[in-house]
Amino acid sequence: MGRVYNFSAGPAVLPEEVLKEAAEEMLDYKGTGMSVMEMSHRSKAFQEIIDEAEKDLRELMNIPDNYKVLFLQGGASLQFAMIPMNLMKNKKAAYIITGQWAKKAYQEAKNYGEAVAVASSADQTFSYIPDCSDLEIPEDADYVYICENNTIYGTKYKELPNTKGHTLVADVSSCFLSEPVDVTKYGVIYGGVQKNIGPAGVVIAIIREDLITEEVLPGTPTMMRYKTHADNGSMYNTPPCYGIYICGKVFQWLKKKGGLSAMKELNEKKAKLLYDFLDQSELFKGTVVKKDRSLMNVPFVTGSEELDAKFVKEAKAAGFENLKGHRTVGGMRASIYNAMPIEGVEALVAFMKKFEAENK
Ligand SMILES: *Cc1c(COP(=O)(O)O)cnc(C)c1O
Repeated sequence: MGRVYNFSAGPAVLPEEVLKEAAEEMLDYKGTGMSVMEMSHRSKAFQEIIDEAEKDLRELMNIPDNYKVLFLQGGASLQFAMIPMNLMKNKKAAYIITGQWAKKAYQEAKNYGEAVAVASSADQTFSYIPDCSDLEIPEDADYVYICENNTIYGTKYKELPNTKGHTLVADVSSCFLSEPVDVTKYGVIYGGVQKNIGPAGVVIAIIREDLITEEVLPGTPTMMRYKTHADNGSMYNTPPCYGIYICGKVFQWLKKKGGLSAMKELNEKKAKLLYDFLDQSELFKGTVVKKDRSLMNVPFVTGSEELDAKFVKEAKAAGFENLKGHRTVGGMRASIYNAMPIEGVEALVAFMKKFEAENK
């Protein structure tokens, strides 16, 4: 069987070129006579891999010198704890609840201090982004936390919240490198790479230097202090070497494609194909308020659970994988990350048209 169109929300599709290159280098990485999986993280070859990866990421995102780039482990979910442990100097933070991942981060933060929910879209099953232009943010809040792209519900902030001078912390797991960002607007940008960058097992955290201090909550494990990783070039202990190597290859692929502006253009084109179809369809409909629609995760329903199930089943048989919606919301979801070729979206839309005609 050949390659399918994989619409998984994560782990997700990776660029075919990257996978082929990795396959070619599998047994002998650049004349070292070994795989990247087998080499010491203290070797010259691996040091070059991680240095090049960081350099390319800095270039792609235009990351200023006063930000550290950390390659961490534990998934995005470990950051739900690391963020308060490292940043809650006043033991207070504001959280905007736009879905399950934001809610989990909020609940985790409560273990370490006062987490205040300053806005939420729970009233409409997280189908929109709340107005964040004038929130009541506690004066002494250490930071304002958002999940910038809501993987499960398919919403995305088109405008960052007005934090009223407070540090902004953002989980960008599912929109990482999908479009240009102004890093200076954030204190921390972080995400698990398995959505839009690489294999599961790596988390990238981009943190403004003044936020990385010795002053952390009592009992914070050494491995959970940002300073530990910042002081050791992400190699305090053995890093997820192979994952970082693949991330580095994806950064190079993105640079070859023209960087994040080119990516944004392509992502908008891909998303428009799907949303335009949904907007005129008499069978399928998108579940998100138009202005808050994500470019990466597109949830939709037919209105009938039976038809939804039939669609997912027939789509799978036709080579469209992982279109089932998140287990908590049902329906369908097409994740169309950077590495999903436009042909994949075109083919999906054609398949949906056919399904609609057959099931009217
Ligand atoms: C997938 C996801 C997570 C959880 O990531 P893990 O690496 O599994 O912990 C957190 N936030 C967002 C936005 C996600 O999409």
